[in-house]
Amino acid sequence: MKYENSRSSGIKASPSMAIAMAAKKLKAEGRDIIDLSLGEPDFEPPAHVAEAAQAAVRAGRIRYGAAAGSEALRQAIRDKFRRENRLDFALDEITVANGAKQIIFDAFLATLEPGDEVVIPAPCWVSYGDIVSLHGGTPVYVACGPDAGFKLSASRLEEAITPRTRWLMLNSPSNPTGAVYSAEDYAALEAVLARHPRILVLSDEIYEHILLRDVPFASFGATCPSLRHRTLLVNGVSKAYAMTGWRVGYAAGPKELVAGISKMQSQSVTSVCGVAQAAAVAALTGDQAFVAEAARTFSRRAELIATGLAAIGGIEFVRPDGAFYAFIGVRDLVGKAGLSDDTAVAAHLLNECGLSSVPGTAFAMPGFIRLSIAASDRELQGACERIARMVTSLG
Ligand code: PLP
Repeated sequence: MKYENSRSSGIKASPSMAIAMAAKKLKAEGRDIIDLSLGEPDFEPPAHVAEAAQAAVRAGRIRYGAAAGSEALRQAIRDKFRRENRLDFALDEITVANGAKQIIFDAFLATLEPGDEVVIPAPCWVSYGDIVSLHGGTPVYVACGPDAGFKLSASRLEEAITPRTRWLMLNSPSNPTGAVYSAEDYAALEAVLARHPRILVLSDEIYEHILLRDVPFASFGATCPSLRHRTLLVNGVSKAYAMTGWRVGYAAGPKELVAGISKMQSQSVTSVCGVAQAAAVAALTGDQAFVAEAARTFSRRAELIATGLAAIGGIEFVRPDGAFYAFIGVRDLVGKAGLSDDTAVAAHLLNECGLSSVPGTAFAMPGFIRLSIAASDRELQGACERIARMVTSLG
């Protein structure tokens, strides 16, 4: 019996989740495993978040809500864009979904026609390509390796564009590389996009606040006002406020595009849980000290891992400017001891050295592995020791 249609069978389950599950299983068997595969902050959200959720339950805010999100949350998001990005959006230019992931899912569901192409600078977050394919689109990966600072240049964008191109996806700070686009980087892309009026831009700015060095954040929306009518800014509370499980993401963009996304939401999940929305309002409107403190913690950890990795030969590492990952080149290890690719290197690292990572292939860039640095100092030091042990043992 065949249960899956062709769309579903062409899609893989999230590879980082699969690796995290394998690591969990080894741990349950009593193995000493350091699991750095999943990308979520390892601390609790500020206390006022849970307090707001409890108050919402007590106040009975447990009914169906508006598909686009509660007015209170959309107002808090509007204020966030004003305060942090100097961008003005009307409430009907803002929508809320179950995480940035669902915003991206709904945006492509609402806009892609079969065969439409979506340009994705690679390496990129594991889900982009599959979400595009699931909605009948074709992901067009543009390799932006360490030589390009892991960023898309104007010339590479121009080369990737065809008459079928519908969207350009951007993600800064980037998962997995930590690259951060500057206003100048965006201006160069804006000049190309000006010549291609059919293309929409999805700028995933979910790591906006996780800046690790003195590199400023630039929002695509604020930097490229000429493209406002075709830009969707995607963000959420998962990374900035350590609220991954609350599942609240949001987007701002042209009214008609945002209405299409809300319509998809209304016919799929109806609305985001009202309690989670109340928690997100508290996160966005409450004391923001947590956000800067978290960035300082990640910055210190990035320093720690950079120092540890610098002492190891045989791997490449470019220190990230943002997000909370270390993207490590293992090209020189491929071919040793029968390790055929980065997936084999990651499996070897897990099985022989007890360190769980995600292979670069999952991010459309083979030859690398990604470690999350959302972990304790001890785990990060342990990770460096285990990588060093692997490199030495492979000779
Ligand atoms: N975008 C990027 C680049 C991510 O790394 C992630 C999560 O890992 C998401 C979006 C999804 O975020 P959310 O928890 O809001 O769905």
